[in-house]
Amino acid sequence: MRCAARRWPAPCALPAPPRSLTLVPCARRCTRPLPRAVASGCRPRRPCAWPGERRDRGVEVDQVLVCAGVRSRAILERLGHAVPMIAERGYHIRAQIRDEQTGWPADLPPVVFEERSMIVTRYRDTVQAASFVELGHPDAPADPRKWARLERHVADLGLPITGPYQRWMGCRPTLPDYLPAIGRAQGADNLFYAFGHQHLGLTLAAVTADLVTALIDGATPAVPLAPFDLARFA
Ligand SMILES: Cc1cc2nc3c(=O)[nH]c(=O)nc-3n(C[C@H](O)[C@H](O)[C@H](O)COP(=O)(O)OP(=O)(O)OC[C@H]3O[C@@H](n4cnc5c(N)ncnc54)[C@H](O)[C@@H]3O)c2cc1C
Repeated sequence: MRCAARRWPAPCALPAPPRSLTLVPCARRCTRPLPRAVASGCRPRRPCAWPGERRDRGVEVDQVLVCAGVRSRAILERLGHAVPMIAERGYHIRAQIRDEQTGWPADLPPVVFEERSMIVTRYRDTVQAASFVELGHPDAPADPRKWARLERHVADLGLPITGPYQRWMGCRPTLPDYLPAIGRAQGADNLFYAFGHQHLGLTLAAVTADLVTALIDGATPAVPLAPFDLARFA
């Protein structure tokens, strides 16, 4: 049997699984929970208003950053943007490490089982096996066969991971050209957006936050943002 592997001795990884990933906390200028304001019907002060919004309702804010993952589509489409974003749904199972001697090693970097399209990642006290790209509606029910398949992979490979498993399904926000959407909304100079980071939202969160901060500050972003403007789908 032929076996090949590449090991990165010091990969960047989270010590613990993220509860909720969002780009918002990284944007230094955002001092209040702006997406919540968007959720409750916030209205940009100038120069446009949300369609159908009454003047005496909504929340007055100086700047709004829309970074609601796949849900950004509905928000930006209300402002007339074309946002052909889909949900690439992924699945994982997670198990507690009960015994450090026999469980998945703490110092092992994430391991990809290529023939099974599965990646196994150790966190502080849990280990996670993830896989799948499912093109589906964000609100469609999860497909339990995919969790069962992951559990089968773990058993077939004889990995030192034992249930019970915590099951999870999430949406990767993906645009047709696989580039994110980062920019200023059309017709509203105080409304910005940052989403569509597909499989790399965590990896790109910090650099995106820097770009958005520069944009909001009126500074020159480190890279030109034209390729990320939603106008490319108009
Ligand atoms: C199985 C799987 C494994 C992955 N592994 C990696 C990896 O190893 N590395 C990596 O870089 N990326 C990975 N990703 C991709 C990464 O998770 C996404 O790219 C990232 O989560 C996108 O970040 P986001 O902040 O744009 O959206 P989200 O993480 O979806 O966050 C959007 C937030 O906005 C909130 N929200 C939605 N609508 C509203 C509203 N109307 N009002 C207020 N709030 C709202 C949501 O509740 C959520 O908290 C993985 C994805 C999956 C599914």
